[in-house]
Amino acid sequence: MNDSSSNLFALLSRAQHQLDQGFADLPPAPSEPLGPDAAAILRDAATRLHDNYPYAHPLYAGQMLKPPHPIARAAYALAMSVNPNNHALDGGRASSAMEVEAVAALAKMFRWPQHLGHLSSGGTFANLEALWVASQLAPGKKIAASDQAHYTHSRISSVLGLPFVSVPSDASGRMDLAALEQLLQTNEIGTVVVTLGTTAIGSVDPLDRILALRDKYPFRIHIDAAYGGYFTLASNLGPGARAAFDAIPHADSIVVDPHKHGLQPYGCGAVLFRDPTVGRFYKHDSPYTYFSSKEIHLGEISLECSRAGASAVALWATQRLLPYTPNGQFARGLEQCRAAALEFNRRIAADSASSAPRFLAPIAPPELDIVFCAVRSPKQTPAASSALAQRIFDEAARLDLHLALANLPLRFFPPETFPGQTTGTVTCLRSVLMKPEHLAWLDQIWRRLDQATTTALSS
Ligand SMILES: *Cc1c(COP(=O)(O)O)cnc(C)c1O
Repeated sequence: MNDSSSNLFALLSRAQHQLDQGFADLPPAPSEPLGPDAAAILRDAATRLHDNYPYAHPLYAGQMLKPPHPIARAAYALAMSVNPNNHALDGGRASSAMEVEAVAALAKMFRWPQHLGHLSSGGTFANLEALWVASQLAPGKKIAASDQAHYTHSRISSVLGLPFVSVPSDASGRMDLAALEQLLQTNEIGTVVVTLGTTAIGSVDPLDRILALRDKYPFRIHIDAAYGGYFTLASNLGPGARAAFDAIPHADSIVVDPHKHGLQPYGCGAVLFRDPTVGRFYKHDSPYTYFSSKEIHLGEISLECSRAGASAVALWATQRLLPYTPNGQFARGLEQCRAAALEFNRRIAADSASSAPRFLAPIAPPELDIVFCAVRSPKQTPAASSALAQRIFDEAARLDLHLALANLPLRFFPPETFPGQTTGTVTCLRSVLMKPEHLAWLDQIWRRLDQATTTALSS
């Protein structure tokens, strides 16, 4: 066991003792011992879990995976001994109150003066609730989201029986405003989903300018900030992204995933509505769950029934340790992620401009902390470039550097890149630098990428 995990278990054991004290006046009810097989089973489970990438290590710089903070892990484990259910106050009074506080901290971070909101199992369900509320307000109207929006929006729309339209994005992956305005002129759009931080490349839709279109057309704005939302705290965004994040208070609803950039274990998304009266749509009659209190049960403002109260306890504890304040430690972590992405991108750009370039010049610097690059191939075809990206990806993994691959539209690259080809995709190397330590590890990461590229291109 390394130092930090033994410290974690010591802290947890003390907190568990404190929790048990609260129930010490009950007659003892000893639980069954685990039995002789437990140790071997757990050892087998641990061995099975070797079959994973080392997500917590800084050399894992691939998909959108970030280890939970140790305090979140400890608080979650502590709450598990109670196993509260935040559906109803009967199932989890304390954790429901903590959820209300944790969600209020999210609303405050987004500078919303009032809100109605709750945690959810993740971003997908949170987005489903936001679009469901939108459909209650404008039945039958279309949902519009950019072609870079999360793939679940069209599926959610289909589940809700709502027509969905895809809005083209520009060469930087941002929603194209002229295309959006054309759609709005049809008067069929009820809600525009604005993505602040797309999952593929971290592009930020121009929320401020989309809001301005509301002077001319009536529509609802839902922000999908599942991945990007916390970047509102970062002081080193570019001017376009900053203007978009500064417009968040004017949207109607927003989704953010504490299990992405909020240092939480999986099972923690959040949806917030700016108008608390949308709670009326959730009204239902359940004969058996509500009898302990006249206060609101979170199940009364949520489509999901049972939910882990432990998620709320973990988020609440993490927020106490790392408050969402600009210039605070949590904000600094996000700034480091973005700084790492900018530096990674700078090195790719420098390589592409060198006398022996191996990568293609990026069209624009990253807006948040996702970097991508296409590989230069003598054949100048997407297929040849894609094959090289795959080879570099494999070689890097051999050097313990774990990147990701993404199929990205050719329009993300200068037109002369793939002569005669304007539509279709090319497989790129992609890296989500979402751990603050990535900044300090960038030399190591680059050195391995450099070596992997040399090997891949010479084989
Ligand atoms: C991850 C993500 C989602 C889906 O969230 P889950 O928590 O994986 O269900 C939705 N939208 C965006 C922009 C995302 O990055």
